[in-house]
Amino acid sequence: MKYRTDLHTHSTASDGQYTPRELVRMAKAHRLETIALTDHDTVSGTDEAVAMGWKLGIQVLRGVELSAREHNNFHILGYCYDPDAPALQDLCKKQQENRVIREQMILDFLAEKGLELSLDEVESFAGGKVMGRPHFAQAMIQRGYVQTWRDAFDNFLDTPEFWEAVPRLEADARSCIRAIKDSGGKASLAHPYQIRLSNQELDALVGKLTDWGLDAIECYYPKYAPEQQAFYLHLAEKYGLHITGGSDFHGENVKPDIHLAEIVLELEWLL
Ligand code: AMP
Ligand code: ZN
Ligand code: FE
Ligand code: FE
Repeated sequence: MKYRTDLHTHSTASDGQYTPRELVRMAKAHRLETIALTDHDTVSGTDEAVAMGWKLGIQVLRGVELSAREHNNFHILGYCYDPDAPALQDLCKKQQENRVIREQMILDFLAEKGLELSLDEVESFAGGKVMGRPHFAQAMIQRGYVQTWRDAFDNFLDTPEFWEAVPRLEADARSCIRAIKDSGGKASLAHPYQIRLSNQELDALVGKLTDWGLDAIECYYPKYAPEQQAFYLHLAEKYGLHITGGSDFHGENVKPDIHLAEIVLELEWLL
């Protein structure tokens, strides 16, 4: 059976604009049948989202998006895990502790560029939840250091210099997959193009991830070029992986060009 769905969304539990409750309400208004909440390194928004799903009559899947250390923007999505299982909770806790260490590194990196920010300022955008680079971008805009979020990333937060100054402290991909699987969930490779590998390198990586238990690959994503989508569908076929898809919706204040998607997917393997 196929469902109209969006399996990649963010809320205020990490760097999204809308609360889990608001997000589910928007998904219902979009007439989606299923939505997954996939916040960065936290499952904390999922109870609220699931409860709202029951209330509105829309199926809400528990999700998570884990950052893995081997590459920049290397993200593993987890779905339909047991929220009480310790493996994923423990890994999220570790990832969050590492984000706190990283916050100071990012502040130091920006200060060296003449962009002084206080931790309080950045935290005011994170609202006590899991902090990410979009919160830094918002603080930089508020101070007038940059005009746009695009400016902030292209010139500061996603540059070779940034990655040199701010080492990745996350778990490796194998541990991310294991934490999801040990918690009874399914793992999917998010937006492969953002890892910036050649097709040949990506093919080898997906082979390795499959050996480690990867279940699926994100084949539908609004930003893909047609040939990227075709290549990811080819990899799914080659490695016997399931297909996921989603918008990576964060809200228009965070990612102005990204709206909730309506993707028709076979979900028997997940439900
Ligand atoms: P973090 O969790 O701190 O690594 O931040 C990840 C988030 O930053 C992603 O979900 C995107 O919202 C955003 N992001 C990462 N790289 C870029 C980029 N090059 N341009 C715009 N946004 C980005
Ligand atoms: Zn994000
Ligand atoms: Fe991501
Ligand atoms: Fe995402």
